[in-house]
Amino acid sequence: MIADSVFRNGRIYTVDSAHSWAEAVAIKDGRFCYVGTSDAVAAFIGDSTQVIDLHGRMAMPGLHDMHIHGVQGALRVLFQCNFPFTASVTEIATAVADFAKERPDEDWIVGGAWLMNIAPEIHKSVLDAACPDRPVFLWDASHHNGWLNSAALALSDLDPTNEDVVRDANGAPTGLLLEGAATEAWRSVPDRSPADYQAAVTWLAQTLNQLGVTSIKEPAVDRAIAQAYKSLNDAGALNLRTGLHFLWETPFIYDADDMQPLVNDRQQYAGERVKVDFLKLFLDGVPVARTAAMLDPYIGDDPETHDPNALLLVDPETLKEILIRFDALGMTVKMHATGDASMRAALDAIEAARQANGDSGLGHEIAHPQHIASEDIPRVAALGVVPDLCPKLWHLDLNKVNAVTQALGAQRVHESWPLGDYHRTGAMMIAGTDWPAMAPTPSNWLGLQTLITREDPTGAVQGKLGENQELDLVTVIEIYTRNGAVAAGHAEDCGTIEVGKWADMIVLDRNLFEIPVTEIGATQVLRTVLEGETVWQYEDIEDTTD
Ligand SMILES: [Zn+2]
Repeated sequence: MIADSVFRNGRIYTVDSAHSWAEAVAIKDGRFCYVGTSDAVAAFIGDSTQVIDLHGRMAMPGLHDMHIHGVQGALRVLFQCNFPFTASVTEIATAVADFAKERPDEDWIVGGAWLMNIAPEIHKSVLDAACPDRPVFLWDASHHNGWLNSAALALSDLDPTNEDVVRDANGAPTGLLLEGAATEAWRSVPDRSPADYQAAVTWLAQTLNQLGVTSIKEPAVDRAIAQAYKSLNDAGALNLRTGLHFLWETPFIYDADDMQPLVNDRQQYAGERVKVDFLKLFLDGVPVARTAAMLDPYIGDDPETHDPNALLLVDPETLKEILIRFDALGMTVKMHATGDASMRAALDAIEAARQANGDSGLGHEIAHPQHIASEDIPRVAALGVVPDLCPKLWHLDLNKVNAVTQALGAQRVHESWPLGDYHRTGAMMIAGTDWPAMAPTPSNWLGLQTLITREDPTGAVQGKLGENQELDLVTVIEIYTRNGAVAAGHAEDCGTIEVGKWADMIVLDRNLFEIPVTEIGATQVLRTVLEGETVWQYEDIEDTTD
């Protein structure tokens, strides 16, 4: 057989079950047709074969980001006022004023993302001064809370009894909207055009390919997002394998009645690179906002009146019915569950589905599995549940030692993200950035590093999070490659470099096994190959092609 292309003289980490290394691969019709030595690959080289010398560089399967709000993030970069999480109120006001000047044709100024620690300074008047003539809506980093100017508030048609509208002493809205109020106000913001959504997916694929990502899952999909991926797929222009988790029954965001038609129609969005048999549910909020459902009370709350399920967004019996129903339909359900009580409700519901349906083989996912009662840890692997590690904050940082500790106390923070325990009990984990929520960039490389170190990469906080919860590099690479392929429904077709699989492969500027762990975060991807086609190549690289 004559290959279309051959890569040789590399250090190719295949992530096969034996963790073997190869020197060379040959690719034919988008799939690996040979994996082995540089000598033996010569037999696959003909006149038409492109031969690429890897010069000893490391190559591995493409990364799988299994939780990225990619379209939302890309829309922000392309069409919204984008400022760093660290921006002060003054800096944000300047960014809004500058953006409004640059984009006179935008009817609304939408942007983000700020952190809740500036909440005491947030006021509509700041944004009124920066942009008096058009409505402004700025999301916080968790995408749960909004900061609006007077023009946006006037258009928002908020329910006057909504407790999530922050008000001043006179009862007037300050411009800060929490949770349900922010979502309600967001409904007044006009949606972008289908062309803008497609531009967002195109930008996203280019950006992620540069970062070594070949496969993603979108965790909160509506019809506009699904249509954008499908349109590019059908045009042969989607350089990302994509899984779509359709939103389901999220109180104050979407009603099940609204989402039912989309879930029923989901196959119309399926394509060669788009899989659609995924659902997404929110079970609670986040600990720092004291909206995660916790088994024990928050610091300062009364233990006598504590109800672990009070903050659940779906009651446990309804949740069981949902899991039984969609498991039987062959849909993998991803559940946002940041608290240990919501985690338990999720595990109970998956257990109910296993009892009702037998083992469907579907690895239902828990997103943000940072808090779990120790007695529930073995249930994760036993029920075939997949912890979806995101955002990549499984290390100490200032937010944990300050805000999260205030809500939960030091002990529960110390015990959070028990990833070593998940691994030792046999759970298959996947990971993602959750970008743009709580992640400044859509790069996963610092995530690989900190899964191993559990240390704050900024150095602002000393020490490791937890004890014996670090993972090793072999496990971490599996999380981002082979495990992701299983969760994305591509177990047979990608995730490892083996004969017969799609030729999805990345070439790195460093060998991850030969450098200090603290240098993994700065990894530069030199080339990304998707189904045999180079979709990204680092410009400055010399002499990679014979
Ligand atoms: Zn998310």
